[in-house]
Amino acid sequence: MGKLYVIGIGPGGLDQMSIKAKEVLEKVQVVVGYIKYIDMVKPLIRDKEIYSNGMKGEEARCIEALKLSEDKDVAVISTGDSGIYGMAGLILELKENNHDVEVIPGITASSAAGSVLGAPLMHDNCNISLSDLMTDYELIKKRIKLAAEGDFIISLYNPKSKGRPDYLKGAIEIIKEFRDDSTPIGIVKNALRDGQEAYLTTIGEFTDEKVDMMSIVIIGNSQSYIKDGFFITPRGYKLEQKK
Ligand code: SAH
Repeated sequence: MGKLYVIGIGPGGLDQMSIKAKEVLEKVQVVVGYIKYIDMVKPLIRDKEIYSNGMKGEEARCIEALKLSEDKDVAVISTGDSGIYGMAGLILELKENNHDVEVIPGITASSAAGSVLGAPLMHDNCNISLSDLMTDYELIKKRIKLAAEGDFIISLYNPKSKGRPDYLKGAIEIIKEFRDDSTPIGIVKNALRDGQEAYLTTIGEFTDEKVDMMSIVIIGNSQSYIKDGFFITPRGYKLEQKK
């Protein structure tokens, strides 16, 4: 009987992976994942059996991984955290009694991008995916509105694709109703991996042409501001000694 590990490999750079994730990847016999993610960890898995397929092949991939784990040690990889829009949930939904599964976390895109921008996520924050493949667009808009009204810092995953070019603009319009024009917005493409680009702007000046599916967009709360090029959301310290 083998074991199935669901690994979050972090944002992409090999140096951003947890020690545990790296150790497990090096010791398993089979690695399963989306082709682009397999490429990101190639140097660590050259001697491994690889099972890979394209986008939208997730369920087939997970079923295969569970079957393979009946007699081998297998790693299913997701970028970022495997439990945040990753493979951990689907594996556990499909798992049968006889399967031995362990979930190993990773640095998610919002944390990675947050570190590139400064400290935008210092207060209550939430992740919203703009992908409507599995979530109804009306529900996505409702969540954006309530998160904005609740003054959450909002990280938008899957912000823009060819099939839904206007969702991001729509999301920003909703959030604008609850924020000043000076509210910071950060866009980070390929955070902490090759090809990183970062832009800092405000909700009043935001345009979406730099954003693609490799990007994440972080919108501040009502207290967020920009200082020396850093996006900061105050935690609430009174800063007595600075006065
Ligand atoms: N499990 C992943 C998220 C997968 S959803 C995680 O925890 O990060 C895919 C979306 O995540 C992308 O469309 C993009 O919005 C975001 N993303 C993932 N890695 C990223 C990175 N390195 N830089 C910027 N955005 C990233």
